[in-house]
Parts: sequence; structure tokens; C-alpha cells
Amino acid sequence: MKLVHLISCLLAISALADDASFLVKDGRPLAEIIIAEKPTRAAGLGAEELQAYLEKITGARLEIVTAPTEGGTLRIYVGGSVHASEAGIDAEGLKRDAFRIVSGSNWLALLGNDKEFEPREPWARNNGQWAREKEAAWMKLAGKPWMNPVGRSLYRDYNKRLDIWNLDHRGSLNAVYSYLRSLGVRWYMPGELGEIVPRAKDIALPRVNRTVTPDWEIRSVSRPLISSNDREDALWYLRIGANEQYGILHHGQRHLTEHPGQRKAHPEYYAMMANGKRDNVSKTANACLSSEGFFQETVAFARLMFDHYEIPVISVMPHDGFNHCLCDRCRGQATVERGPSGISSDYVWGFVARVANELARTHPDRKVFCGAYSTYRLPPLKIDKLPGNVLVQITNGRPIREMDNAAHEEAARLRGMWRAKTEHPLSVTLNYTPFTNRGAFRPQYWPHVIDRGLKATVGETWREDVWLSSGKGGLHYPGVAHLNPWIISRLWWEVDQDVDELLDEYYRLFYGPAAAEMKAFIEFCEREYAGLGSDGELAGKALQLFERAKASAPAGDVYAERMALIDEFLPAFRSRAKQMNVPRPEGLPEYRLIDMSKDKWRDVRDTLTLDGRLDERFWTAYNHPRPLRHIHTQAAPKGRTRFMGRWHQDSLVFGIRCEFEPDDPPVIGAEKDNDPAIWQGEHLELLIETDRHSYYQIVVNPAGAIIDLDRGVALKQGRAYEWSSQAKVAAHVDEDFWSVEIQLPITGSDEDPLHRIVGSRPFESKAAALKSGKGSSLPWFFNLFRKRSGSDGVETSSFSPLGEEAESFHEPLRFGRIYVR
Ligand SMILES: [Zn+2]
Repeated sequence: MKLVHLISCLLAISALADDASFLVKDGRPLAEIIIAEKPTRAAGLGAEELQAYLEKITGARLEIVTAPTEGGTLRIYVGGSVHASEAGIDAEGLKRDAFRIVSGSNWLALLGNDKEFEPREPWARNNGQWAREKEAAWMKLAGKPWMNPVGRSLYRDYNKRLDIWNLDHRGSLNAVYSYLRSLGVRWYMPGELGEIVPRAKDIALPRVNRTVTPDWEIRSVSRPLISSNDREDALWYLRIGANEQYGILHHGQRHLTEHPGQRKAHPEYYAMMANGKRDNVSKTANACLSSEGFFQETVAFARLMFDHYEIPVISVMPHDGFNHCLCDRCRGQATVERGPSGISSDYVWGFVARVANELARTHPDRKVFCGAYSTYRLPPLKIDKLPGNVLVQITNGRPIREMDNAAHEEAARLRGMWRAKTEHPLSVTLNYTPFTNRGAFRPQYWPHVIDRGLKATVGETWREDVWLSSGKGGLHYPGVAHLNPWIISRLWWEVDQDVDELLDEYYRLFYGPAAAEMKAFIEFCEREYAGLGSDGELAGKALQLFERAKASAPAGDVYAERMALIDEFLPAFRSRAKQMNVPRPEGLPEYRLIDMSKDKWRDVRDTLTLDGRLDERFWTAYNHPRPLRHIHTQAAPKGRTRFMGRWHQDSLVFGIRCEFEPDDPPVIGAEKDNDPAIWQGEHLELLIETDRHSYYQIVVNPAGAIIDLDRGVALKQGRAYEWSSQAKVAAHVDEDFWSVEIQLPITGSDEDPLHRIVGSRPFESKAAALKSGKGSSLPWFFNLFRKRSGSDGVETSSFSPLGEEAESFHEPLRFGRIYVR
């Protein structure tokens, strides 16, 4: 004790001989905050934040002045000013958001690069104003039916009350936050409950000379919004040091294809579907990248955006839900042999390179942007080096939730392949709790996955774009959701920190007496995340750990309040855990999918022709179809149905044959896709629960019409319909039967949860999966129903029987097992 006391006395004495070296002493202010006559936005807000937090810490309120008081006190320069320059300090040579913290004998300077953003008209001040007042000016400027991604949504990057643009550089504000952190302030979660403020009577003038440059230039998080109406949300965004890149950095082609005027005027710009028609109707209708007109408009649009809005970078990435155009010029550019992540790589990136080369002639200082995503995730083979003005982004370019080496090595391999194609660092987007909130019932904590990914990518990537599930303008369930972006942001600024030190401090400061228990809970959730969705025992253990943590903090104190916010998130998880612990009924059927990649099928696997007929050797070489039975009685139905299933090229293929009396053909409810009238006629329902998602519903009928839903999200507000299986369907109607072929693409990546079935190849058991060397997934669960609808009324049969009393198909616990062997 004596020694500690002695050291602290020595420190106080050596650093600070008298009152002149204290900013605050015994709760009295001994310094003033000096800003310029016209401070930058970052410096103005920085001075206010500094004043507010020094007062919270000490009770002393330092004045904010534009000229130092004569004869006086210590000076704290926030941002550049003539007075700071007189002391010999400025932000010269600092990169975006970088800052200096420097002190002299009687001053402290907190300043950085504060370059300010200037918006250009036309831009809307709010959501409604665009169509009402601004769009006309844009249409005149463009002269074409183009959407405007800048002017229309710029207001989301501006906070009116704080007068801060997201696109501002904020060095001086970051300097203030860094200084306050050095005093012990922590902003773990938005709002007062989320912050840690130490109490002190004295604050000494530090001896310091630091220059800090963030390790990532662009540090974007989707929530909270900087424009949030909640001041605390917006401030948290600033306090964690997030920012945004000016420009267009997402599915850029949508701005040329979405306008109804464009759809009408130029159907030839749109991708041709399997039925030979160009799709200019779907919400995310894609372009035909061989269309010369579309190419010319893409270039013209980019030039206008460069010149008028002065954006430095423009995306020419295809629209979401990509469909490779099947016109004569595009079809041959598909590279089917490269699998689902590379089918369209040369096709899409060839287009990007063409546009980039054209733009380089007129705008050599600007960049062209595209994402490695979906069927063009792998680098092109025909392009050795991308043009020098192309920037590449990889969706989920570092693992989101996987702790195993394989996932990290795989991501590194993909980044390496892309880095060989470009001189520039990469950009990555990361779907943390996908914005659609799918699967979001599990607690989401990935500090170690984040740490590993960031340490592996520092220097390789310049921009991270983190998607968090969205609450109104803030974090969705902030009690759980704050930890990932907080850890990410600390490492964005300084990647060489020890994540366990950051975490230990967090547990101690944020959860107090429950620190050890919360650490156990959070780290268990991180490690066992995959199993928390399917393994009742693991889910139960996680909940037990949380209960133990709650019991460690007395009710009513601040730590208990923070844990109560986690509790608010958990009801869905608790009920799922209960469900998982209900054993599946005995005796449900199993179905084994034929693995077409096996050598014995090599001569037949390529014979698949999607015409609905089931007569090719793909099906007939092993012809053991499985019958459906009456849903309750298990009796043979009048209208017989048989199905076969194959695992083929990362897709699940079903062939289904449905018989009927020749004089009683099926009633057709819908001729077109996505028409709910499909349920009014004869149809088949496929319900599929994968190891990753519960569950998908796909309905097809004799006309080959399809409607598909994600039953994992609420049916209300149409959210379930946002998902598309991207299935290929073909039906054939004969004299006394109709048959259908359905090819369902499967993806192991949840980069895009709105398209395709997400799941890993299903195995009979964990042991079989491990033995195969193809992963460690489990079986899937499946049911198939036929609703026979003729003049004779309705008859329903199924693969897996419903329970005696069950009325609904939607009983996932009664699905049969399905797996590949
Ligand atoms: Zn085409």
C-alpha cells in the first residue's frame, strides 16, 4: 500500500508542479476551450462534447471562447484557429479523420483533418421532398429515366440538429473523443446507460504528442443512422468514429433499370429469361450486359454523376437477385463449369472493365466500383488485371460468425485471388445479423471472429461496410447489438489492440459484479453460435449462463438494467430453445438424395433437361420414386403421386409425377409466378428446413407457375414474400398425369439471405458428414404435399404424415428427414 501511495505522489509531483498544470483542480475549471471564429463543424461539436464530458467527470464547466482570456488560464485548442497556429500546431498533412493530440507548457491541442462536405443541388432535405420539389430538376438534367441515388437520399447522411454531414472529415471531433477515452470515458452503447464516465476532482494537463490515423479509411455501419432523430443514437455513431464514403457503392445498375419509364422505353436493355422473354417487370429486373444501348447509358450516367455531383466513385454492379441474361450474345459468356459463385464472373466483370476503360478516357481521376457477389463472386479468368480505375468489394470478405480456420482460410484465399487482379486495396461488406433479421433470435456476439478477421485484412482493405439489423434509426435491440460494432470500431481505429484486454475491461466496467458470468455467457454464445439454432442442449446452456449472470447483479442497479435489455431480446430464443428440446416424433420417413457428383452417374448427370418430362437418363437411370400417402390415414390416395430427388451441382432437383383420371384433369389456379391464386387449384407444396434455416415453402402447379416464401419471417407485411428461391421449374401435362422438374439452387453463404435456399449439404448424421470430408452439417427436414384438385373435389397426400389431429401442413416437427449419401 505504501509503495502504491508513494508512486502516485511521485507521479503527481513530477508531472505537475503547480496549479498551472491542471485543466481542472478540486472541481474548479483552470482552462478554457478555444475554437476558431468560424470553427469547422467537427471542431464546433468537438468543443461542446469536450465541455460536456469534462463537466460530467469533474463538475467543472470550461468556457468555450474564440479568443484566449488575457493573463490567464490554460488553453485547450479544439480544431484549427489562429491561436492554435500561433502555438505552432495545425492539421497539415493529416489524412481523412486523422488527428493530433499535442501539449505545450500551458496548452493542449486537439485537432485534425476537418475537410467539410458540400452538397450539390438538387438534393432532397427529407424523404418526401424529392418527388415533390427536386425530381423535376434532376429529370431535366439527366434527360433520361434514371434514378438518382445521391440527390434523393443525401439527407440520410446529414444530422440537422447537430449540423454534421456523415461525409465530413472529422479529425478534431475524433481527437476530442480520443482524449476523453484517455480519461477513462467509454461509449459502449448509445445513451447514458451505455456509457462509462469516471469521476475525478482533478484533471492534469497531459504531456502528449500523438498523431493518430485510423487503420481503415472508411468505417461504415448501417445503424444507428447519423440522421437518427434520437440525438444519443447519432452521437454514438460519431463517438465510435464511424464515417461514410461519398459516391455510389452498392447495386449501381439499379438506377438505370428501375425507372418505369426506362422499362417501357427499352425492354431490350433487360435480361432474357428461360422463356425467351426479356424481364423488364420484376422488382430487381437485371440488365442484358451485351446491350450496347445499356452500356452507353451506363457510361453517360456515370459521367453525369461525376460531373454534376462530383462523386469520386460510381458503382456499376448489377442489381440484386442476379439473373444471367440468356440472349444469344450473353448465354455463351456463362461459365457453368465454375459453379454457382463463378458462372457469371467473366460476363459481369467484363462489362465492368469495358465501362471502366471508357470512363478512364474522360475521368481518369474517378473510380468504378463493383462487388464480388452472388454468381460473380470469383474473379474473372479472362481478365488478368482489372483496369486501374476499378475498385473491388467482397461481400462477407471476412468471416462473420465462424471461428474455425477453414472459414478464415477460405476468405483469405478469395481475397488473395482478387488482390492479384487489382492494385487497389479491397472493400468488404459484412452482413452481421442480416438486415432482414433472419435468424436473429440467437444472441449475436462475435468479438474474436471480428478480431481475427480485422487483423488478417488490415492493409488489404480500405473500407468496411457493416450491416446490422435495423431498428427505427438506432440499433435493433441495443442491449445485445452494441458489442459487435463497438469492438469493430475500436479495432478499425487501432487494430493492434488485444481484444481480450478490451473485452475484460468491458465486462468489468459494463457488467460490474456480473463480469465473469457475462464473459462466460457471451463467449459461449460466440463459440456455439451455429448450434444455438438447432441444438436444444446448447441453447439451454446459453440461457442458463445468462440466468447466472443476472443473479450476480442486484436488481435495480445499472448493471441489472443493462442485462434487462438483453432479456428483452431473448423471448424468441427461449421459445425456440423449448421447441428444440421437444423430440421429433418417432417413425417419420426418411429420403435419401442421390449424389449426382458420384462417378457412377458421370454419364447421366448432364442429361438433365428441364422440360418437366422426367424421361431423361438423369431420372431413369435410377428409377425408384417414392409415393405420397394420405396425410392422415397413410392410405394410398386415388390420384397417385411419386417423387424423386437428386443433389446435383449445388442444387436440389426434384422430379414429381402426379396422376389423374383422363376425364378429370387438374384445375389450374394460376398461370403466372407469384400469383396467390395458385392455391385455388391443384398444386404441390415443398417445405424445406435446412441446417441453417427453418424453413422455406415452395409451391408449384401443373402450369409450371411457382410461388415461394420464407416461413422463417413473419407473413404479415409481405416480408415472407421478399425471398426468392430462384428455382427453375418446368411442368408437363399429359393425358393422365402431369409432371414437374424443380431445380433449387443451394448456397452455403448467407451473404444474401433473400435469394436461394441457405444451407450446407445435408448428411444422414454428423458422423457421416465428418467422414465425407465435406463439412459437418446435419440432415435437412422436408415435406411434400400434393393437393389434388379436380371436379371430384380435393384430396391431399404427403411424404411425411401429419399427426392425427394436425390440421396444418406447417408442422416442421413432422417433416421427414432428407439427406445426401
Ligand atoms: Zn443479353
